[in-house]
Amino acid sequence: MSDKLILKIAVNVPLSREFDYLPAANGPVPGVGQRVLVPFGRRQQVGLVMAHTNESSVGADKIRRIAGILDETPLLDASDLWLIRFTSDYYHHPIGEVVAAALPTLLRQGKPVDPTVERIAVTDAGERFDIASLGKRAPRQAEMLALLIDAGGDGLDANTLTEMMPTWRRATRGLVEKGLIATFTAPADEYDERLAAEKVAGPKLNNDQSQALAALRESAAFTAFLLDGVTGSGKTEVYLQRVQDVLDQGKQALLLVPEIGLTPQLVARLGERLGLQPALLHSALSDNARLAAWRAARSGAARLIVGTRSAVFVPMKNPGLIIVDEEHDHSFKQQEGLRYSARDLAIARAKHLDIPVILGSATPTLEMLQHCRTGTYRHILLPSRAGRAKPPVIRLIDTMREPTRDGISEPLAESIRHHLDSDGQVLLFLNRRGFAPTLICSQCAHIAGCERCDSRLTVHARSQELRCHHCGHARVLKYRCDECGETAQALGEGTERLEEALSDRFPRAVVSRIDSDSTSQKGAMHEALEGATLGSANILVGTQMLSKGHHFPKLTMVGVINADQGLFGTDFRSAERLAQSVIQVAGRAGRETRQGEVLIQTAFPSNQFWKTLIEGGYRQVSDEAILEREQTRWPPFTWLALLRSAAHKKADAHRFLTSAKQRIGKNGDKTLRVLGPVDAPMARKAGRYRAQLLLQSSDRAGLHRVLSELRPALEGDTTARKVRWSIDVDPIELF
Ligand code: ADP
Ligand code: ZN
Repeated sequence: MSDKLILKIAVNVPLSREFDYLPAANGPVPGVGQRVLVPFGRRQQVGLVMAHTNESSVGADKIRRIAGILDETPLLDASDLWLIRFTSDYYHHPIGEVVAAALPTLLRQGKPVDPTVERIAVTDAGERFDIASLGKRAPRQAEMLALLIDAGGDGLDANTLTEMMPTWRRATRGLVEKGLIATFTAPADEYDERLAAEKVAGPKLNNDQSQALAALRESAAFTAFLLDGVTGSGKTEVYLQRVQDVLDQGKQALLLVPEIGLTPQLVARLGERLGLQPALLHSALSDNARLAAWRAARSGAARLIVGTRSAVFVPMKNPGLIIVDEEHDHSFKQQEGLRYSARDLAIARAKHLDIPVILGSATPTLEMLQHCRTGTYRHILLPSRAGRAKPPVIRLIDTMREPTRDGISEPLAESIRHHLDSDGQVLLFLNRRGFAPTLICSQCAHIAGCERCDSRLTVHARSQELRCHHCGHARVLKYRCDECGETAQALGEGTERLEEALSDRFPRAVVSRIDSDSTSQKGAMHEALEGATLGSANILVGTQMLSKGHHFPKLTMVGVINADQGLFGTDFRSAERLAQSVIQVAGRAGRETRQGEVLIQTAFPSNQFWKTLIEGGYRQVSDEAILEREQTRWPPFTWLALLRSAAHKKADAHRFLTSAKQRIGKNGDKTLRVLGPVDAPMARKAGRYRAQLLLQSSDRAGLHRVLSELRPALEGDTTARKVRWSIDVDPIELF
């Protein structure tokens, strides 16, 4: 068009394109990777400069100028921008939304990368001042002055002060006028790598661990290693040594952990072993703390960065290693908005940076195992438990013969008693929170359902509510049928009921329930895990949350209350999943000197799945599942993408997908199967009807070609106006 400089800018809107702008008429030109403010419609938006070019499809008279520059230097470098582009291309998701997901909240909002805070400190005069003389006339001033005198010379920042004394601002003016305090701006707190505690030496690696470490050390260039080690085999010790290598070379390491894996215990262990405070990136941090950690990773000040899913995007000055711990964990996959797999992006990023990536798990996904079979990834095994710990013994309890009361069969109760008597600790796993999953009428058998979803309401006795676990809808719990008015009763067990029943049966034991209800309050999770670790809790009752990664030294017995839902799942991943969750929770038992015992209650003890799992372990289950997937042509032997839609009217949700299917029809080839549209398994959720269209192909590149034409076409499709829709590449929840 012209030789004028055009800026390609990513803006946080749901459109799959970059937008063209001109630099300001005078002043500097923002570089690639810098944030800018741009006029967008009638508003201003934060944008990120993705490229400089001379070409624009926008007419010269229409193209607008940017409104301002937010960063003096680029926030992101070429490799960071590569990852953003790759994510947008691979997941067929608008680039501006990828940028938004990749940046910490404050930066997404356009705040400065080096923020300052308002600080307030006492002056010399203030320090000498007699507070009592402020007397009753200015009690607020007296209180504030006392706080600041306590805080000393640097004073307090405004946020901290607000927490201590919400009304401080009203006292400020008087105190400043008297010359007793001063306010000033200062840089916000920086991440500090120094650790209060001393560095502690770890155990000497055993043979398997040493071999694993040697194998990991063979490559400083890109290699994907699957560290496949049974629970308690000492994977973390191996990571630690490999991280130490990388730090010694002056490089940084990024450790990605599952959402609930980022426990204070893990952070403390990493810290004291490496002699530094890891920089943390997770959602429970304040925006300021997150930004500080992000900045430290970017500047290189943080050498070990530990974070959940979105930390995969964190810029690093000197990246040397990426580790994905518990790679099988579902929390690495974001299930809404930008539906990405942080594990898969970690691998892609490591490849681009040409550094190694370690994927660790006791129950690796079939996707990773298949890569090892074909030789693209290296398979490193830790076949036995570290130290002296022995693998747990697994037994089944037939609940058809041994009926359960409040979810607990007599043999299970017997075993709990036995372990408690011999000073052991017990964990009971039930992946259902609340008191009972169902409220049923004893007269007409009507089941209380959610008004907005095709689902039942869960009885929560503690909070006296009936709650929908799908849309969050809640109402007051009444044991009365909505239909006929007769008495209704709670049917089945959730963790609350189990907790109650155990407290009744074992009155001397301390029972601790750990699920997302019991740990929603700040600090509750920390406290519960501490009780579990120290052994002050004798019986732990919990959901999935309790099954992962934890190390409870006293735990000797695990009971799986009900695993049968998983035996007959419709998803092709059902067996893999059930095996993962049983092995993971079983892996909590007997991690120190005493051998662990695992009891699984099932109504189907003769099901082949159990035989395979108990006799052959996860390895056997996964070997068989791989063969089955190959025969039935499911991933990892084919690739999937799921197009979802939701609308107030069912017909609209379907019409959109039918239109999509027609568009694909023109582009698809023989390798592509298009299944649907069909109703989603839960057809109505939160008042919307949901439907889906599954794309399956044995040609990955071909599938992506179809999707990259489909996405922009759908953005302009008239049937899209009435629906919410999304593309899910490599979906992990299909049904
Ligand atoms: P994983 O990450 O595979 O579950 P961890 O690294 O947490 O295993 O180790 C499990 C337990 O075994 C921990 O208590 C750890 O301190 C201990 N451990 C690990 N390696 C050794 C070793 N070589 N000798 C003795 N104990 C070890
Ligand atoms: Zn609902």
